[in-house]
Amino acid sequence: MSKNQLSTSTAVEQVNEERLLNLFLDLAKINGPSMKEQPVADYLVKALTELGFTLEFDNAHKNFNGEVGNLIAWKEGTDSSIPPLFFSTHMDTVLPTEKLQPVIKDGVIYSDGTTILGADDRAALAAYLEGVRAITESGVPHGPIELILTVNEQPGLIGATYMDYSKAKSKVGYIFDSSGDVGQIILKGPYSSRIWMEVQGKAAHIALNAEEGNSAFLIAAEGLLNMKLGTIDEETLANIGILEGGELTSIIPGSVTVAGEVRSFSKEKLELQLKHMEEAMQKAAENNGGTVHIRIEKKYSGFDIPKDHVLTKTVESASLNINVKPYLTETLGGADTNVLNENGLTCLTLGNGFQNIHSFRECISIENLINTGKLTVALIEQWYETHKQA
Ligand SMILES: [Zn+2]
Repeated sequence: MSKNQLSTSTAVEQVNEERLLNLFLDLAKINGPSMKEQPVADYLVKALTELGFTLEFDNAHKNFNGEVGNLIAWKEGTDSSIPPLFFSTHMDTVLPTEKLQPVIKDGVIYSDGTTILGADDRAALAAYLEGVRAITESGVPHGPIELILTVNEQPGLIGATYMDYSKAKSKVGYIFDSSGDVGQIILKGPYSSRIWMEVQGKAAHIALNAEEGNSAFLIAAEGLLNMKLGTIDEETLANIGILEGGELTSIIPGSVTVAGEVRSFSKEKLELQLKHMEEAMQKAAENNGGTVHIRIEKKYSGFDIPKDHVLTKTVESASLNINVKPYLTETLGGADTNVLNENGLTCLTLGNGFQNIHSFRECISIENLINTGKLTVALIEQWYETHKQA
């Protein structure tokens, strides 16, 4: 079948704009900040069961006192020879959406400015539900569809980190969770680690025994002044974000915690930069009679999906099929995509066009919301076309 024939797909046309908008507004109003996703899960259990999914929850939440685990939902295809395709996003919002009053102006959905909108990422959830409904209603053939919906993503991909990956049956998929307009395809994400440096000098009182004192602050200051930070090269970033220490203004501080993080598309460059930061602080401690204890904490691994990967090719074709221009890009931001890829679920991040997320100015255009629904449908169709037996 040619691309032209697909562009008039009855399933894409079946995406109902009013229904999708209402679905999004319903979902956005459900209060479900991180670790308190039970009301969202309850809504999804009902909606997904009606759409013919079988559902399972894992116990990830028991690791962090959340209300509910990750939701893994499976819908059989009309053709079981097609490899299953998953769609993923997170169920939590960064802040509450309680008492959300949506305001629609010039085709863009906002809150009234007193809460976030929750477009990150209720927009994707709504699009997946409407997309699967359109596929089912139109009766087009399709392969098995899986939804992998995580909890506690916003504070640092925690639900995905503790996910029971044995529950997922598919191996490849997509995550709509980025601010680019629909058509954005993120092929590459960074490695990231935190570095914790406990700098020790010697505490003393300025009036009683100052001669015994050795300021940990001054040691740390020397270390920081000799540390390359910021943009290290075009694929590596480094930052110090935490300085914690001190007791009283009259006490020479005996210790201070200095912490930061490094991100890089290259694992080698990440390690080199961490080593550089460690050495700068070690040297400052040695020069000044102090000590430093270093701890490196991995945040997540990078991913790098080839341009000729079937996931990339499929989303490029599917975008064209809904008259959206696909564009390939990369990000130094972290997402569930990093964690899923590391755990054997190969996936890409796709743009769904929300803006100003994590703020009360958050918004999404109706066009991007609808296109997210349409692209979900087009992906399921294109995936089938690519894999069906000739
Ligand atoms: Zn998100």
